[in-house]
Amino acid sequence: MSSAVTTQRPELLNHVNGAWRRSSATEFADVSNPATAELLARTPLSTSADVDAAVQAAADAFPAWRRTPPGERVQYLFKLKNLLEENLDELSRLITLENGKTFAEARAEMRRGIENLEVACGIPMMMQGHILEDVTPGVDEMQIRQPLGVVAAITPFNFPAMIAFWFLPYAIACGNTFILKPSERVPLTMRRAFELLEKTGLPKGVVNLVNGGRAVVDALCDHPQVRAISFVGSTPVAKHVYTRSAASGKRMQCQGGAKNHVIVLPDADMELATQIISDSAFGCAGQRCLAVSVAITIGEAQRIFRDSIAHAASSIRVGNGLDSGIQMGPVISKQSKQRVESLISAGVDEGAKAILDGRNTKIPGHESGNFLTPTVLDGLPSSSQLADTEIFGPVLSLVHADSIDEAMEFLRRSPYGNQASLFTTSGSAARKFRYEAPAGNIGINIGVAAPMAYFPFSGWKESFFGILHGQGRDAVEFFTESKIVVERWSRQETRKF
Ligand code: NAD
Repeated sequence: MSSAVTTQRPELLNHVNGAWRRSSATEFADVSNPATAELLARTPLSTSADVDAAVQAAADAFPAWRRTPPGERVQYLFKLKNLLEENLDELSRLITLENGKTFAEARAEMRRGIENLEVACGIPMMMQGHILEDVTPGVDEMQIRQPLGVVAAITPFNFPAMIAFWFLPYAIACGNTFILKPSERVPLTMRRAFELLEKTGLPKGVVNLVNGGRAVVDALCDHPQVRAISFVGSTPVAKHVYTRSAASGKRMQCQGGAKNHVIVLPDADMELATQIISDSAFGCAGQRCLAVSVAITIGEAQRIFRDSIAHAASSIRVGNGLDSGIQMGPVISKQSKQRVESLISAGVDEGAKAILDGRNTKIPGHESGNFLTPTVLDGLPSSSQLADTEIFGPVLSLVHADSIDEAMEFLRRSPYGNQASLFTTSGSAARKFRYEAPAGNIGINIGVAAPMAYFPFSGWKESFFGILHGQGRDAVEFFTESKIVVERWSRQETRKF
């Protein structure tokens, strides 16, 4: 497949009130293909005036949209699902072009995004409240769910499509109007998705797209008419958005960074464990918030797993994600490649041995790409700084522990709690792990425990700030306000008693 640019205009537009508009930005961020360094587009770093225009459009659209019956609102999502299915390969290709993951990974991302549309089409059922008659004779009490108003989502670079769809479908199906701020590093996929959204005939202003970086984020946090923010990105920015939005009384769900552990017990099916952990650690070049970053081996699992994972990792084919047979693409930027390389060096300095070393990789024909090959750091001391640092690259550290309790202690000390996994054939070990592991998403013989769209995407500790998570029932609660009504209609009935 060719990597020619499919964009007609190098400078991107915002989508506000149903139309494509030039931003008032004076600064721009380059969007480059991570595999080739080819310049794909320029993202305008929009201003607070652009945010204000989008919020006004969304606020104006809200009264009519909230009165649109839920069954009618979801018809637009059915249409969008069909359009995304019809354009799945084109969208997946855009993901690969701007993010670098392989075409197969991009297609899988699209599937997980579409799954959220399918679930949100059930809003007429999921948004229902409940009622109890005769809480006192002749008096009925009910809880109803109403939309909030204008809501916004701010998304990271690693899933250009899927993460926007963790929020957009539920938000609008619940009757809210919506603003998306995609990552300035990968704006092309959602631009195409918004062209498809236009084709659904959705009333203008219901969904809006503002391109940009920090200034847009801060303007959304501060805007008094934005009622809620969904954020996904690194922990420092998640904390920033959480605290800044709190100052203007918003509700927030802020998903942060991660350092995910897997424990491998000696009774595990080693072949299965190796294949699954290898996919988790090196898939999407380790740039998944659920990527396994540390494998803790117990007892004799140490030697067997070390040898098998090194073998599996060394056979992964690295290259341009649009080329057939490629299993791992580049990391997002030159800075990211340098950062990952320096963290590998830090691990070696702290006492680990690089039994597979991905630094200084050059892929023939793609010398300008941001490539690393899979790295395995054996014997990383559990007390090292790297053991608690998010790498976000294709690096797996191996730590050894004498018992599952010692391994669990290591997990408890971790600042993050996005995911923890166990590989075993023992039911009681699995139950103990499920019960005690201090993380929001748990995998038993699973490497990427990504919840299906009908379950919330959990996350604990520094990996999540808020109460209600994205997806599933949490999404419906997050995007609605609960109202309690106590009602009396009959004087007679009250007198009878
Ligand atoms: P990032 O925090 O750099 O950027 C995320 C968003 O915040 C972007 O839209 C960006 O424009 C904005 N932003 C960046 N710096 C900002 C600042 N100083 N002030 C205000 N806004 C700012 O994250 P990223 O590099 O795009 O994505 C990778 C990170 O996201 C990793 O840490 C990864 O673990 C995390 N992530 C978490 C989850 C999860 O579910 N917990 C999912 C995906 C990614």
